[in-house]
Amino acid sequence: MSAATETLSSPAQSTAHPPDAVLSVRDLRIGFRQEGQLVPAVKGVSFHIKRGETVALVGESGSGKSVTALSTVRLLGHAAEVEGSVNYAGRELIDAPDKVLRDIRGNDISFIFQEPMTSLNPLHTLEKQLSESVRLHQGLTGAKARARVVELLNRVGIRDPETRLADYPHQLSGGQRQRVMIAMALANGPDLLIADEPTTALDVTIQAQILDLLAELKEAEGLSLLFISHDLGIVRRIADRVCVMKDGLIVEQGPVESIFADPQHDYTKKLLAAEPVGVADPVASDAQVMAETKDLKVWFPIQRGLLRRTVGHVKAVNGATLTVRSGETLGVVGESGSGKTTLALAIMRLIESDGPILFMGRDIALGTAGDSGPCAAICRSSFRIPSAASRRA
Ligand code: ADP
Ligand code: MG
Repeated sequence: MSAATETLSSPAQSTAHPPDAVLSVRDLRIGFRQEGQLVPAVKGVSFHIKRGETVALVGESGSGKSVTALSTVRLLGHAAEVEGSVNYAGRELIDAPDKVLRDIRGNDISFIFQEPMTSLNPLHTLEKQLSESVRLHQGLTGAKARARVVELLNRVGIRDPETRLADYPHQLSGGQRQRVMIAMALANGPDLLIADEPTTALDVTIQAQILDLLAELKEAEGLSLLFISHDLGIVRRIADRVCVMKDGLIVEQGPVESIFADPQHDYTKKLLAAEPVGVADPVASDAQVMAETKDLKVWFPIQRGLLRRTVGHVKAVNGATLTVRSGETLGVVGESGSGKTTLALAIMRLIESDGPILFMGRDIALGTAGDSGPCAAICRSSFRIPSAASRRA
């Protein structure tokens, strides 16, 4: 830690921990050793969380939110130098023995992450992963462990949990996986839940459900919550207090209402100004219709058996009628799997579909999908299909 003392020094700050805090962080500095150098990531941050409170760390990607959270219970790798003071319920954690930290991680402070698969084992059924947790921390086995697992799954809104016990994580939807990860985090009745961008990868509707669940659990279980997000809309909805991070520093912190109503720091003002507000200007009602679909359908055959007989259809798009006028931006929103991408691919004639697709009045659905006719030329010159990797981003 001596190298860090020289490189990570910051102006003197108060090191007193508020007596009513569950977690209190004082002058936290984190650097990463890289090729003999210490690269600072967090440059002296102080904040605290009171019992029952939700504190949000908000800021752009790379500002140091995740490393701040992970360092509280020493979850950063060996390349990290961490200094300052982290006090949990009266105990100093920065230099605590590994055993104390393991104990606190298992029983007092739980994490949930953006990607549930970082916490779930893909090779274990839900019952196995959850009962392992309740066995380790509560000593429950057999029927008692199973009952507790069912109770936890119920608690996080998994319907008919008894029927899901033998499922593997890949058999669950993204939202369900996130619920199971929350169940794992709750298994040991923690005091503090640290949620690092827990809804960033989810559709808006599922995101709203998970946020409601967290708020409800927090209330019912008397949890404190450290909520990390880059999304101000979510922070406004869930937080009591907000810490705004930039370049490894908390540039501003305060109650959620005052941060949003009366931001002091230029960066906070910039963040708030970057939030989309209002509605787009309407297009003229006589603007030319550019593209139009009428009752567009894309049905994928379900084929079974040796002869690949069609036994049914996945109706990915089942009657989409839309019009896009010149200068208009049409938003297509919906949950994952609702058919958005399939609709776009069909309009671009990259997959087969049924029903007229008019481009400037001309029906381009008449050509075969992917052919080299005029419709293909139009589509290829106007659009580029994102690769699978960039679609996921
Ligand atoms: P945020 O969560 O706000 O997006 P992070 O806390 O993940 O940001 O990262 C803060 C800074 O620390 C970034 O510059 C990042 O590149 C750096 N960093 C994070 N983890 C490591 C690591 N293991 N090794 C080196 N640098 C890291
Ligand atoms: Mg992060």
